[in-house]
Amino acid sequence: MFLEKLSNMFFTDVAIDLGTANTLIYIRGKGIVLNEPSIVTVRDIRGRKVVEAVGEEAKRMQGKTPEDVVTIRPLRDGVVADFEVAEAMIKYFMKKVVPTHFLKSPLIVVSVPSGATPVERRAIQESVESAGARRVYLIEEPMAAAIGADLPVNDPSGLMIVDIGGGTTEVAVISLGGLVYAASLRVAGDRMNEAIIDYVRRKMRMVIGEATAEIIKHNIGTAWHAKKEPIQSMKIKGRKVDEGRLLEEEIDENQVADALQEPLRQIAEAIKKAMEATPPELAADLVDRGIMLTGGGALLRNIARYISAESGLSVLISENPLECVVRGAGKALEDFEKYRAVLI
Ligand code: ADP
Ligand code: MG
Repeated sequence: MFLEKLSNMFFTDVAIDLGTANTLIYIRGKGIVLNEPSIVTVRDIRGRKVVEAVGEEAKRMQGKTPEDVVTIRPLRDGVVADFEVAEAMIKYFMKKVVPTHFLKSPLIVVSVPSGATPVERRAIQESVESAGARRVYLIEEPMAAAIGADLPVNDPSGLMIVDIGGGTTEVAVISLGGLVYAASLRVAGDRMNEAIIDYVRRKMRMVIGEATAEIIKHNIGTAWHAKKEPIQSMKIKGRKVDEGRLLEEEIDENQVADALQEPLRQIAEAIKKAMEATPPELAADLVDRGIMLTGGGALLRNIARYISAESGLSVLISENPLECVVRGAGKALEDFEKYRAVLI
């Protein structure tokens, strides 16, 4: 107890979920200390990139910046797309929550998408190391999500985890502390927003931005058609296609469900593929235990019902789906011996 306190004084061990949409940081013994959008605004000064804002502050500027300022999501498709900017972002977040002084350079566990190549893993590791770490361990994102959702990952029985984030959906089957199957699909929350933008353009002849699409998804988004009243709807503002005239129109939840069909179908396909690829003994476990959904996409209304209808399995949504990955990585820090085998 005393030794633990002493070591907490000197070392701030940290778990990071470097998500495509949100970055979360967990400190051993404290819990989640940061949860901000993975966004950076950068100003171009004669070809030199200068960071203007990071996280919440950068998000507020999204879509509203002048020409020489761009908002960048450095991890957009699940990998480090812009190394320099990713590194600046990680450093900024770490500085915000981890006191850096003598002897405090931390042990860091950071999650990586299962589809990341060795080069991409190295890039993530290096950008975290450069933020000042004594030792960096990687953990597969679906593994962290499963641990965060309190699933018994070390048991000799199969469990399926589906993490629907911003840029990617991770589908994995876990048994005995390892990934028996893992696939990373570049269809998730961002694609849902794009699908809404497309739908509104095609069917309503109206141009809306990403932020509006996100609001529509949050407010009335659903994976399943409402059969009876009341059907939820909302007013949206945009520009008339080809005219530039501003207008306000009404969109209802069944239209949004139509708009979301294609990305949802692709997610369901990925789940079916995983079921087909799972060895029979483990597949039998999946029938008993069902699928666990995590990530922000799990908050889409009726998504469990949709995936259950498509897969024939029961579907559960984890508690706090947006926090699962960082909680899982954090648990691995807290109970290092138990989870040693899942840290890379
Ligand atoms: P990542 O791990 O890639 O950073 P997150 O797990 O943080 O992603 O999830 C972010 C995604 O979840 C975003 O695309 C966001 O729009 C979506 N999301 C969050 N809340 C909801 C909601 N209530 N309904 C539908 N989608 C949601
Ligand atoms: Mg995530």
